[in-house]
Amino acid sequence: MKQRLHNIYRPIDERKKDFKEVERNLTAAEIKQQANRCTECGIPFCHGSGCPLENVIPEMNAAVLAGNYREAWNILSSTSNFPEFTARICPALCEGACTAGIDGSPVMVRQLEKVIVEKAFELGYVTPFKAEKSSGKKVGVVGSGPAGLAVADELTRQGHAVTVFEKNTASGGLLRYGIPDFKLEKWIIDRRINLMKESGIKFECNTRIGVDVAIEYLCKRFDAVVIAIGTPEARDISVPGRELSNIHLALEFLNGQNRANAGEIDAKPL
Ligand SMILES: Cc1cc2nc3c(=O)[nH]c(=O)nc-3n(C[C@H](O)[C@H](O)[C@H](O)COP(=O)(O)OP(=O)(O)OC[C@H]3O[C@@H](n4cnc5c(N)ncnc54)[C@H](O)[C@@H]3O)c2cc1C
Repeated sequence: MKQRLHNIYRPIDERKKDFKEVERNLTAAEIKQQANRCTECGIPFCHGSGCPLENVIPEMNAAVLAGNYREAWNILSSTSNFPEFTARICPALCEGACTAGIDGSPVMVRQLEKVIVEKAFELGYVTPFKAEKSSGKKVGVVGSGPAGLAVADELTRQGHAVTVFEKNTASGGLLRYGIPDFKLEKWIIDRRINLMKESGIKFECNTRIGVDVAIEYLCKRFDAVVIAIGTPEARDISVPGRELSNIHLALEFLNGQNRANAGEIDAKPL
């Protein structure tokens, strides 16, 4: 059985010059080899006890091995609204549950999902959608993090007219302002938001509900309102050394770095 690939990063000399994704693209031969490791499995535990979304991993990787990316994309997108995000930032619990990991190293499921996603975009399989029938109902979603985006996506597919309200300049919540570019470059969020806009979802950024617009107004204007505002307050800890200089809360630090990378603020050290 071929082993898991460990050489998955761009060369250090190259990646230390930018903030971009650190992982490199796999070659066609590597993709086949790694997908093949999955199809050699006797009893897969990954999708049942591993993946919280119940991604159908063995069948998906069998499709990759066969070079059938349409099928692989159909399987992957049947359980996940935004596989391009999870394929980059998910802690990959499936790999913890992978049978190949019992006496060796697990299949690189997350990276294979990324291959499927990017192939699907490249081949034009990911397109705006239109619900079969309109419900005539309007829903307001407060917050455009992954929770708000997933709700908006699902409700729109069911025929409801959805508007997403976001207090920040751009949508994405912690995907955009919490997670660094080396794991998730922001054009990937923009690509999805554009698809959602083309599917009819409205986004109103720079609008803080409760300050710029009253929640009571929202409740009158919409048939239903979903609150998906995350947990913006960081939890501080009391440990020796916390008072030293240059010890920062991750939320505050990453928010500043991501805004600086996006050109929203000047890049100043904290
Ligand atoms: C530093 C950091 C790194 C992380 N890294 C990872 C990772 O690598 N992988 C992973 O799986 N998870 C990671 N997470 C966790 C993940 O980001 C969160 O679980 C996820 O973002 C929660 O999604 P959410 O939509 O509930 O909330 P959020 O992403 O917080 O989105 C909430 C949105 O609501 C908006 N909002 C709040 N109040 C209002 C209001 N009154 N009006 C309008 N808009 C409002 C906010 O501006 C925000 O955009 C990380 C979290 C942090 C803090």
